[in-house]
Amino acid sequence: MPLGEFALINRYFRAAGALRPDVVLGVGDDGAILRPPPDCDLIAVSDSLIEGVHFPLDSPAASIGHRALAVNLSDIASMGATPAWALLALTLPRVDEAWLEDFARGFSELARAHEIALVGGDTTRGPLMINVQVMGFVPQRHALRRSGARPGDLLCVSGTPGDAATGLRCLQTPGLLDTSGDQSIREAWLALQQRFEYPMPRVDLGRRLAAIASACIDVSDGLAGDLDKMLAASCCSAVIDLDALPRSAALGALVETGALSEIDALRYTLSGGDDCELAFCVPTSRRSALNELTRAGAVHVIGEVVSLRDSAAPRLRVCSPRKQRGSEQVITDNDLTDLLKTAVGFDHFAV
Ligand code: ADP
Ligand code: MG
Repeated sequence: MPLGEFALINRYFRAAGALRPDVVLGVGDDGAILRPPPDCDLIAVSDSLIEGVHFPLDSPAASIGHRALAVNLSDIASMGATPAWALLALTLPRVDEAWLEDFARGFSELARAHEIALVGGDTTRGPLMINVQVMGFVPQRHALRRSGARPGDLLCVSGTPGDAATGLRCLQTPGLLDTSGDQSIREAWLALQQRFEYPMPRVDLGRRLAAIASACIDVSDGLAGDLDKMLAASCCSAVIDLDALPRSAALGALVETGALSEIDALRYTLSGGDDCELAFCVPTSRRSALNELTRAGAVHVIGEVVSLRDSAAPRLRVCSPRKQRGSEQVITDNDLTDLLKTAVGFDHFAV
């Protein structure tokens, strides 16, 4: 007999996530009772994943569970907050126990790693869709916003944006792995797939940035587009140094072996989505605190915020593009202009 709605919630979700003393009442009643700490502001975020839009049809259930939470944690991180509680609204086409088991495991492992309690949700039938809401705390008035960047600030990014989108391309290209004869190319593609399927949101970094950064945004729709949003909110422009853009060993290996062209790698880095990284600005007066992070390799300075002189001009410009990384391929200024133009502004409704 198929599992009923209440048995399903009990079996897979009642004990998912961490146990927390600030959850007075969790799953089981009409609402959860939660006790926020005094002297903190509450940060609330929500993000949905829809099959075929945010993940390929045959994605592993554990990856879907992980990503549904990870994209929300990335938003919490970009606010400089510490996540505490999650709600999960799940729309399922059918009850598939093996799928649910894996989904709940993917969700719960990430939740426990960040000590997040799953305090409630909703379960309905329909096309596969997952909506998660996360709440977290930040000391009053310390939350980061998109709007705080000022001319002269250093423009920074965590991790290596572009990896997840390159991994997704591999997942969506049948046979790509099988035709990659060279073992090192296969391994690079697999590493990038992992970056799409199991991104690690920068929660600890976000918390540290609350004391350092002037503005922050989660990089989820593509680096250039998200930088543009932060700059628009801050009424500033920025110049980025293409040669300072970080590149992962896996993406580098694909370019070096010719499995991916330099311009495609740059396109993924500037416009690929799904990374769960943070882009942020730091006043030069806090350079020494930033140096601790750059020394650890966790973040890179990629440019500088400048004042907005002409509001009709593009907010994001690139400086003295040299030939990329000594490669033979020359990327022309026109290539770059086109690339930046298309990289800025991913919009679900602009098709
Ligand atoms: P109601 O019909 O009163 O909204 P539900 O049957 O939807 O109650 O939910 C019962 C309890 O289970 C509630 O506490 C709700 O928050 C929780 N819940 C429902 N679906 C989920 C889920 N997918 N994950 C976690 N908790 C859930
Ligand atoms: Mg309900």
